[in-house]
Amino acid sequence: MKKIKVAEPTLAGNERTYAMQCFDEGWISSNGRFISQFETAFASYNDVSHAISTNNGTTGLHLALLAMNLKPGQEVLIPTLTYIATANAVSYCGAIPVLVDCEPGTMNIDPRDLESKITSKTVGIIPVHLYGHPADMVSVMQIARKNNLWVVEDAAEAHGSTINGRKVGTFGDCAIFSFFGNKIVTTGEGGMITTNSDSIADRAKLLRSQGMDPQRRYWFPEIGFNYRMTNIQAAIGVAQLEQIESFLEKRRWIANHYDSGFSDLGEYLWVPIEKEGVKHSYWMYTINLLQSNEAGRDFVMQYLDLKGIETRPVFYPMHRMPPYFNNRISFQTADKWSTTGINLPTHANLDADDLDYVIENVKNALGELRKMSKN
Ligand SMILES: *Cc1c(COP(=O)(O)O)cnc(C)c1O
Repeated sequence: MKKIKVAEPTLAGNERTYAMQCFDEGWISSNGRFISQFETAFASYNDVSHAISTNNGTTGLHLALLAMNLKPGQEVLIPTLTYIATANAVSYCGAIPVLVDCEPGTMNIDPRDLESKITSKTVGIIPVHLYGHPADMVSVMQIARKNNLWVVEDAAEAHGSTINGRKVGTFGDCAIFSFFGNKIVTTGEGGMITTNSDSIADRAKLLRSQGMDPQRRYWFPEIGFNYRMTNIQAAIGVAQLEQIESFLEKRRWIANHYDSGFSDLGEYLWVPIEKEGVKHSYWMYTINLLQSNEAGRDFVMQYLDLKGIETRPVFYPMHRMPPYFNNRISFQTADKWSTTGINLPTHANLDADDLDYVIENVKNALGELRKMSKN
C-alpha cells in the first residue's frame, strides 16, 4: 500500500555537502561562516536589510516581541486560528494575547474583527500568514497606523508569499520565519527575524546572545537568552534556500493538481483561494468539508489514514486551548475551519500518482460520508 506523508523535507541539494564542511572545518556551534552566509542570503531573498537567525521560530518570535519592547500586562492582537507558538511568545513576555476571528476565505486574521478588539492596553498586532496565504496586510497596516500599534508578522509558514509582488515579512516592523522540518525551507529546527530597522535588529542580536554588550566581550548589562542557531543548521539552510524557487513552483503545481481534481465538488468542499494580487506559498493545501461536522471530518481523516494517507486537522483555535480558553466570545469562522478543515499532503516530494491517489480517496471518503448521513 502507498504511504503518503502530510509533510516531509526535500534534502536533495547541497545540504549534506555543506553540513559536512562544518565537521571538516571544525565549526559545529553557533560560530561559523554559514551563519552569516544564511542570514545574508535570507535577507537578500526577502528584500530586507537584516535577517537574524535563531534556534527556532518560536524563540525568534519571542525576541521580536522583546525588541518591540512588549511589557507584562500589555495586550497583543493575534488570530485565534494559528499555531500555539504565536500566543505562547506573547505569554513569555507576560503580555496578553487578545484573540481575533479569521476571514472565511483565507483563514487569516479578519480586519473587520480586529479594530473592535483594541483597548487602551493594546500595543501591537501579530498577523499570521496561515498555511502560506498572505494576511490582509494592507488593512492590518492601516488599522495599526491609525491606532499607533506595532506589527510583527508571523511568516513561519509563508516563505516566498507575496502581496502585489512584495514579499510577506516586509510590511510590518519586523517578521519571523520558521525552519522546522515540515516548513517550506528547513534547517531541522531554526528560525529567522527579518527587519529593515537597525534598532530592532541590534536589539534582537543582543538578546539572542545573553544580552552581551557588543562593544565589550563577556559584559552583560541585562538579562538575555541563548537563542542562537548552529553553523550546521545554517549550512542546511543555505542549501535549502538555493532551491526555494523550485520548492515553491512544486507546491503551486500540487495546489493546481488538487484544484482540478476537486473541481466538481464545489458544493461539498472549499479549496484554498488565492486573493487577487497575492501569491500563496501553499505550505499546506487545506480543504474545508462545508457540509460536515467535526465527527464527519474525523471520519474522512481516518478513512484516508487507512489508505496510507497522512493528513492533519486544521489547528485548534486558541480560544479552545486550556491556557487561552474563552467561550464568552464567538469565533464563528475559526470554529468552522478548525472543526471541518483538513490539511492534505503538501510537500515537494509528491508526484502526480500520489496526488491522484489522495484525490480519489478524498472523493471516496466523502461518498461514504454522504451514504452514512442519508441512513
Ligand atoms: C511553525 C510555526 C511557528 C514557529 O515554529 P518553530 O517550530 O518554533 O520553528 C510559529 N508560528 C507559526 C504559525 C508556525 O506555523
